Amino acid sequence: MLATAGVALCASSALALTPPGDLAPPGGSPIVFPLVGAATYSDDFGQPRGQGPHEGNDILTTWRSPAVAAEDGTIKFWTTSARAGCMLYLYGTSGTTYLYIHLNNDLTAKRDNKGKCVPGVAYMDGLKNGAKVRAGQQIAYNGDSGDAEGTYHLHFEVHPKDGAAVSPFPYLNAATKLLFPLPTKAIKPVTLGLRGIPLSAGGGMLEMSVTGVRVWPGGAWTAVPARSVELLVPPDALLDRSVAAQIVAPTRRALSSRTVVPLVVVTRPAKATFEVSTGSPGTLSVDHIQLG
Ligand SMILES: [Zn+2]
Repeated sequence: MLATAGVALCASSALALTPPGDLAPPGGSPIVFPLVGAATYSDDFGQPRGQGPHEGNDILTTWRSPAVAAEDGTIKFWTTSARAGCMLYLYGTSGTTYLYIHLNNDLTAKRDNKGKCVPGVAYMDGLKNGAKVRAGQQIAYNGDSGDAEGTYHLHFEVHPKDGAAVSPFPYLNAATKLLFPLPTKAIKPVTLGLRGIPLSAGGGMLEMSVTGVRVWPGGAWTAVPARSVELLVPPDALLDRSVAAQIVAPTRRALSSRTVVPLVVVTRPAKATFEVSTGSPGTLSVDHIQLG
């Protein structure tokens, strides 16, 4: 177990140190990027902070962005550190422990600090302390609790073999990024909206550069870092007449950047598996396409 007393948190940064040597992700398989949606980070591991070297990387993104499990494991809530604020340990099945620090403690976007470190505020609704989670499952909400007040970010730490912290930077760079966070229980199918630019099409396929994702039921449009997603185009998919000729071609070909227009693809319902959440080729089918 890790003691929070040893965790150097996110006071204002000073000089950048040369980062320590990179370590490959555990087991050679990449972790899941701990936040879903557009986010920025740098290798600020080891930078001098108020209480000593910075023991993680700070990942900046918006209020209440979903934080997801980096790998399969068991979570533990930690609510008693003034500096960390609302915090969570993920004990991964690989033996690596991950720390999620500065989770949400606001009930409104006005940084009210009126929320407690409880499910529905800091942690995912309905999540129980000690629960087993799967990689990509939403476990928490991004925030600015503890000494992060005023700067929404996730302080993310990686502790191989539950030991000393190493730089998360190579893990983050190699991480698998999700289109959407996995629900607690994957019982109901999800329908996705994908906004982006078509790259190639034909032969029953459509490849898009996706920059926005929406999940039904319940979701709102979320910006994601641009990424290529390949979709199946069934013969009975409904296509806006203006783009149908480009998309329904007998063989696949690249689309001219002069003629493509932004599109919104709505998928057929799909079970919320890890492969679907990563947009693996062949896992998503087009239901209909509108102009974006
Ligand atoms: Zn930090």
